[in-house]
Amino acid sequence: MTGESSGAPGALVLFSGGQDSSTCLAWALDRFDHVETLGFDYGQRHRVELECRTAVREGLANLNPAWRQRLGEDHTVGLAALGEISNTSLTRDVAIEMTDAGLPNTFVPGRNIVFLTFAAALAYRRGLKHIVAGMCETDYSGYPDCRDDTIKALQVALNLGMDTRFVLHTPLMFIDKAETWAMTERLGGEALVDLIRDESHSCYLGDRATKHDWGYGCGTCPACDLRAAGWRRYRGG
Ligand code: ZN
Repeated sequence: MTGESSGAPGALVLFSGGQDSSTCLAWALDRFDHVETLGFDYGQRHRVELECRTAVREGLANLNPAWRQRLGEDHTVGLAALGEISNTSLTRDVAIEMTDAGLPNTFVPGRNIVFLTFAAALAYRRGLKHIVAGMCETDYSGYPDCRDDTIKALQVALNLGMDTRFVLHTPLMFIDKAETWAMTERLGGEALVDLIRDESHSCYLGDRATKHDWGYGCGTCPACDLRAAGWRRYRGG
């Protein structure tokens, strides 16, 4: 099944290979009959996350026969231009720090707006109604394009601009990282927690060599800090 002509309520998940989008993929597999995934290569320094995607997808399929049946195609789209025009520590070899605007310089301006627009263009072609993404405004780095209002406005703009009726889902929007782990456990028990802890990637520096109780990463960048703190709260430590 491709979702192209069946009219089935298929979903497209923005899937980077990180903890949040891996959880969103499990969430979507739990709800929708057909789920495709989309990853972007925009020259991010932590490109290793793109390689983690395959392991997470295979792990999810192995966990649950229904999920295996529902898991459809994986798409990767190159967005090198985004990396070229944004001078950030995610796309350049510069230190992670706060900017004058009060945002960390890991902020790639417009990234989520571009991602969701490309996702909608792909969903349109694939006949997928639901678009699922891991943005969160509870426990995040202050990125304005992760806010619920940004996503809601974008849903309206995309539906007007494509004369269609996409539904944008952000299941993590109002929960923190500890609650994200709890959601993971509800969706797939300890086996899913283990899979996402071991195979998903968050570290901005792309460290896959150092293992911690919360997964792999350098242990000091903001993404690792957030992930480690969430894990500790989830485990009650
Ligand atoms: Zn790190």
